[in-house]
Amino acid sequence: MARYSVFSLLAQGLAGHRGWKPAWRKAAPRDRYDVVIVGGGGHGLATAYYLAKEHGVTNVAVVEKGWVGGGNVGRNTTIVRSNYMLPDNTRFYELGMKLWEGLSHDLNFNVMFSQRGVLNLAHTPSQMDAFARRGNAMRLNGVDAELLTRDQVAAMAPGLDVSPTARFPIIGGLIQRRGGTARHDAVAWGYARGADARGVDIIENCEVTGFVREGSAITGVETSRGTIRAAKVGVAVAGNSSPVLRLAGFDRLPLESHLLQAFVSEPLKPLIHTVITFGAGHLYISQSDKGGLVFGGDLDGYNSYAQRGNLPLVEDVAAEALTMFPNLGRLRLLRHWAGIMDMSMDGSPIICKGPVDGLYINSGWCYGGFKATPASGWCFAHTIAKDEPHELNAAFTLDRFQRGYAIDEKGAGPVPGHH
Ligand SMILES: Cc1cc2nc3c(=O)[nH]c(=O)nc-3n(C[C@H](O)[C@H](O)[C@H](O)COP(=O)(O)OP(=O)(O)OC[C@H]3O[C@@H](n4cnc5c(N)ncnc54)[C@H](O)[C@@H]3O)c2cc1C
Repeated sequence: MARYSVFSLLAQGLAGHRGWKPAWRKAAPRDRYDVVIVGGGGHGLATAYYLAKEHGVTNVAVVEKGWVGGGNVGRNTTIVRSNYMLPDNTRFYELGMKLWEGLSHDLNFNVMFSQRGVLNLAHTPSQMDAFARRGNAMRLNGVDAELLTRDQVAAMAPGLDVSPTARFPIIGGLIQRRGGTARHDAVAWGYARGADARGVDIIENCEVTGFVREGSAITGVETSRGTIRAAKVGVAVAGNSSPVLRLAGFDRLPLESHLLQAFVSEPLKPLIHTVITFGAGHLYISQSDKGGLVFGGDLDGYNSYAQRGNLPLVEDVAAEALTMFPNLGRLRLLRHWAGIMDMSMDGSPIICKGPVDGLYINSGWCYGGFKATPASGWCFAHTIAKDEPHELNAAFTLDRFQRGYAIDEKGAGPVPGHH
């Protein structure tokens, strides 16, 4: 694999940029692999990359029904943070943050990780108390967190309506300065390139349509391009987890698939220098490197596998954005789209072996699986390679829902829209 560097850029520049090679091969499926990963999203590709790099397991195929980056990994609002409160989540997402901090170098691919901070706004004294509790829990776990006063918030975000007469007055906030954003599809491309360079076959336009079984064990997949046998099959298909796992015989999972939309405005000069979340509703906003404002809000509110959203949510998100930033009143929205979210019943992920031999499950990412991509790949690769969980995903089992050991970060109960 050619290394990207200033020297290769100069050399290619002098040669008219005619010598660049594709970042990954267009692999055709072989009959058999040690490991097949279903789903070429961020999690599937990161898993394949760490299987090869950290565990020396290179006879691996990633089987993707569409194209790399066509799922949620290329549809999200790119927010990266590790501001969790429950110990299982804090430690797992902080591993992710540490991996993000070195990811561009590790992959030799610029994922444009920008630690511009993630600021959560507080509008009531009880919300400030809750933020203090969360911030303290984070700091006790070695994660950075700072409570801000209203004046500090105002200084960070000029355009934000901090007046006491605002509909939802802002009284302070909690910031994680190491949080921020990354270029979503670069993450998919970087992991795909790194995995391919280590021998992984990335097979696009190849839909898994069934599973091969010997006795109760899974020993391969049926695909639109033929049967592929494998000693181990990892499923990392995010919002499609239920239909894909139903093919393996599991039709009652603690998951619901919902739509989540993202919105991008016309480009503006630099206006919002951090990621900001509205505490009196559900809105998150940041500004992309191209200048567009990127917004996200709530789930659309009904189960669906369509990758397009509804209009009431557009109105909802616009109303919340204007409440925070009245100066955006004449801004034009350029694009919006949706992704299919794998909402778990406690808001926390599932990364585990089983429930039958040969099968490994990675799912339940809810609103927040993009930031988890490196940690998820790291832990899922460990689970598949060693046949036992990494200590940081040991709690993220499938049977915790049956046993009553929910990891309910928000204490919201089994209501997907609240996680
Ligand atoms: C609008 C929106 C905003 C979001 N904002 C954020 C955010 O700001 N921060 C954050 O941390 N998270 C965010 N998320 C969540 C995050 O994007 C997801 O949790 C994460 O990307 C899911 O993991 P993935 O990348 O592996 O999924 P995907 O990219 O969806 O990968 C799954 C892949 O499986 C493939 N597949 C499905 N069925 C089959 C089959 N039968 N055979 C073969 N392949 C199959 C799909 O084509 C897909 O490519 C957001 C999501 C959306 C939709």
